[in-house]
Amino acid sequence: MDRNADLSPSSPTSRLQVRRLVGGFCALFGLACLIALGALFNIAATLDRQEQQRSTFHATQALEQRLLASRQFLSSYAVWDAAQEHLVGKVDWQWAYEEKNVGESLFSASGYEGVFVVEDTRTTYALFKGKPTDSAAGAYIDSPLAPIIAEARKAAPAREQVTHFVRFNGWPAVLSAAAIRPDKDVLESEVSQAPVMIFVDQLTEAKLEHLGQGAGLMRMRLEKNNPDSQRQPHIALGETGYHLAWDSPRPGNQLLWAVLPPLLGVLLVLGLVLLYLFRHALRSSQAIDQSLLRLQQSNRALEASEQRFRAVAEAASDWIWETDRHHRLTYLSQRFVSVTGYRVEDWLGQPLNQLLSCDTTPLLPWLDTQADSDPQQLANLRCNYRDPTGQNRYCRISARSILLEGHLAGYRGTASDITDEVAAHARIQHLSMHDALTGLPNRNKLSRHLEQALLRGSEAPPLALLLLDLDSFKPINDSLGHPAGDAVLQEVATRLRESTRDGDLVARLGGDEFVLVLHGLDNRSEIDRFCARLIDLLQQPITFEEHQLHIGASVGIAQARAQGFDAGELIRCADIALYQAKADGKNTWRYFSPEMNQQIQYRRQLENDLRRAIKQHEFVLHYQPRYRLNDLQIVSVEALLRWQHPQEGLLGPDTFIPLAEQSDLIVPLGRWVLAEACRTARDWPEELVVSVNLSPAQFSRSDVVADVRQTLLQTGFPAQRLELEITENVMLNDIEGALGTMLALKELGVRLNMDDFGTGYSSLGYLRTYPFDSIKIDKRFIAGLSNQTGNDRAVVQAIINLGKAMGLTVTAEGVETEQQLKALGNEQCHEVQGYYLSKPVDRAGFEALLAGREARQDVS
Ligand code: C2E
Ligand code: CA
Ligand code: CA
Repeated sequence: MDRNADLSPSSPTSRLQVRRLVGGFCALFGLACLIALGALFNIAATLDRQEQQRSTFHATQALEQRLLASRQFLSSYAVWDAAQEHLVGKVDWQWAYEEKNVGESLFSASGYEGVFVVEDTRTTYALFKGKPTDSAAGAYIDSPLAPIIAEARKAAPAREQVTHFVRFNGWPAVLSAAAIRPDKDVLESEVSQAPVMIFVDQLTEAKLEHLGQGAGLMRMRLEKNNPDSQRQPHIALGETGYHLAWDSPRPGNQLLWAVLPPLLGVLLVLGLVLLYLFRHALRSSQAIDQSLLRLQQSNRALEASEQRFRAVAEAASDWIWETDRHHRLTYLSQRFVSVTGYRVEDWLGQPLNQLLSCDTTPLLPWLDTQADSDPQQLANLRCNYRDPTGQNRYCRISARSILLEGHLAGYRGTASDITDEVAAHARIQHLSMHDALTGLPNRNKLSRHLEQALLRGSEAPPLALLLLDLDSFKPINDSLGHPAGDAVLQEVATRLRESTRDGDLVARLGGDEFVLVLHGLDNRSEIDRFCARLIDLLQQPITFEEHQLHIGASVGIAQARAQGFDAGELIRCADIALYQAKADGKNTWRYFSPEMNQQIQYRRQLENDLRRAIKQHEFVLHYQPRYRLNDLQIVSVEALLRWQHPQEGLLGPDTFIPLAEQSDLIVPLGRWVLAEACRTARDWPEELVVSVNLSPAQFSRSDVVADVRQTLLQTGFPAQRLELEITENVMLNDIEGALGTMLALKELGVRLNMDDFGTGYSSLGYLRTYPFDSIKIDKRFIAGLSNQTGNDRAVVQAIINLGKAMGLTVTAEGVETEQQLKALGNEQCHEVQGYYLSKPVDRAGFEALLAGREARQDVS
């Protein structure tokens, strides 16, 4: 079983896995956020940069345009023949200023704050904001003029002008310079000393505003150079220390402002959701881990218990079986294989009764009764089956119902192989039928043999029974000891066996008494010859060590045709004849004659009557119900024997049972009672148990187990409905044997009740050892309940307590008064029986009782 493989304790817990998973997911989420933000900022920066580049381009264009316009404007004054005439050398103020050729309108209309004509270091003409001034150009312009002048002169031949950014009057301005020259082609040398005309266009706020508007730029202005300005869009203005600045729109920034807050909001929400999910997953994974742990623990416990069970199941000599509700096998322990030789797979799914069978009780109905029975008491049933080699084997099975949530789910139990036990039982059976010393059949076997032989009565071949007693045996035993006696007995046994034919029986009854049963011998002369030869043979000396031992024998003879077909009777007759033979001088034989004993005659009469009564069905059973004390419902019924005597009327068992017990008639009589009770009770309600009384004589004179089994088989009466009532006397003679018989009876499935409890010997000890299901308190104690001494009451109380402690059903019999019934109720007895409730009644009477009449109506 690898149910644990995927739950091994070393495997990582789900919590750890969830942590890793969620950690990874968070990292991914963070990365994605970073990438998105990065891309956003990058786009914003690119947008901003592009916008800056665009605005810078437009600003530069506008400025360039202004510079170009300024140069062209200047060019129209400097490249002018009139200017050449009036401004070179001595400046003609009249022409220039008064006549407004280069006059005040340059400031008022064209916006030039400074207009100068300079010749190297000398300023020859100067206007400041349209007004003539005496100050030199250098007084207003911060930059050195000489290089500008040189540059302007250099550009003059090509009709070109120069522009520079300078600080004018402390404020940045565009300075345009051009050499004054005639409007014709000139050589460089011709203008190398020419005066230079300078127009200064101060970059005032108003002009910049105008310039900016023209280029579509906002708030164009001047700013002092500073490190910050490097990051803004700007245009440097030469050495002026100022630069041109404007407000460039920042679409990237706008984009950021538009997108970032909602994006961050979404990310925050996502993060929170993630956090929540993480915690949730962690928590549920924690719960999973815990239940996983519990599962692992219970799994381990389960496996341990499974291992334990397997160890027990495999170590046990029994095999274990389980079936479902429909008796189909669902489990067989491995012992099944080694015990039966079958494979487990071959039987799983098969009904149990296909494997096992029981000849006395149908297996499946028996199983079903286990579902209702007391779970404390395990019932056994003896079953048999054929192993794969075809050998018949026996096992004892126990069964218990499996309940799942109060419903029957199936059955389980064990099966112990008792084949050896059965064989041993057979061996014991053999031993019980044979004499250990000589190996001859013993009295039991003799009884069986005779019973069989006499069964057919006069139709059978004639039968002679010879009872033989050794003469002079006792002195040998006394003088030479037991070994000599044993040797003599063994030799005699050999000689007797040799002298008889197949089919005849030689038995040893004990001591020095032997019985020979001869078949087919009828006429006396034949028997006489046989006896003469026999006595002669036995008189031959027997060698024991160095001794020659001499014995003799006397024989009493009974013949079935003369003395009747009853074994006991034959033996008794032979015994009387033997007595006669001994009396007549030993080493001889005598035939029984009726005159030999009047007593025997008389008894035979009675017994004959009994025997006839059996044949002629003069016996009847009466039935006395047993009631549950709680609700006075009939739970079982006891069969009690009656003899409907032709002359004497209805006789109670006490008048004939003792005689029947003495004469072995008890055996057939007992069988009849058993069969009759089973046959009759078959028609009664299923839950009704029927009790049959067994006499101790039946135990010792016959094979009760075989009889009960036979009866059950023949009548088809379910074993569990049959109860056998046995008195403690059964155990008196042969404690060991009685126990074996009772166990065997239990294995047939019947119930055992100890009758007349309290009148026997060491009752308590028996109760513990013997497999009784119930006890019946003897009626003498119940009668005692009526008197006031309280002595019997204490006994009854003690018996009830004892029985209950042992799990036995306790019945009180002989309840004759209401007072007794009440007393028993106080003592909490289980069941009651007695005249007060119902006398024994015949079959019809009992069936009327069953039909629901009041129990007490029949009390008369
Ligand atoms: P038992 O087994 O103790 O049977 C009970 C006896 O008590 C029965 O007598 C019954 O009629 C009688 N009894 C029942 N209730 C009362 C009551 O309230 N007061 C009194 N005083 N007696 C009550 P029964 O039928 O005469 O049988 C006597 C005995 O004969 C039985 O004693 C039993 O040991 C034996 N017996 C009866 N039938 C059979 C049988 O089929 N086989 C054998 N082997 N013995 C039998
Ligand atoms: Ca009884
Ligand atoms: Ca009794």
